[in-house]
Amino acid sequence: MHYKYCPTCGSKLTLKEAGDDGGVPYCEHCAKYWFDGFSTCVIILVANELQEIAMLRQNYLSTQYYSYVSGFIQPGENAESTAMREVKEELGIDLDSLDFAGTYYFPKRDQLMIGFIGLCKKQPLRLSSEVNNAKWIPANEAESLMFPDSPGNAMHPIFRKYLGMIIKKTTDSRM
Ligand SMILES: [Zn+2]
Repeated sequence: MHYKYCPTCGSKLTLKEAGDDGGVPYCEHCAKYWFDGFSTCVIILVANELQEIAMLRQNYLSTQYYSYVSGFIQPGENAESTAMREVKEELGIDLDSLDFAGTYYFPKRDQLMIGFIGLCKKQPLRLSSEVNNAKWIPANEAESLMFPDSPGNAMHPIFRKYLGMIIKKTTDSRM
């Protein structure tokens, strides 16, 4: 989001030089720069020991495709605690581990998605009211349910990281 008016006082912003960033919208009244804004979210691929992935359908996003758990980081939270909280809220699961899986900018919604892979023992999914359907899907079938791969879609790159993780685990256990 590019600011034209000050979100605090409503004054029209002017461009002011801000070091290496060049001209940045500036409020003379509040003496404050307003750098372009975006939301910061987490997205978590949740998998169990049988290499099944928790796939969720939320009708407000799509009635066809499934996604992972995701949510906005709230002021005062860090990304890891948001990820643990969202998985608990949406699926009723306490994760055993949480690994960082890259960051992805989703231009359509101006969201920076912070990706994670969360592992847990297989257990029943207890859905929040925000989720219309969720199920454990074997990893080799999961890709066909995801939103199609496109720039900014974090699901596929995180999925490829997960595949790399389970291949490495299999290789390590053979050594
Ligand atoms: Zn202002």
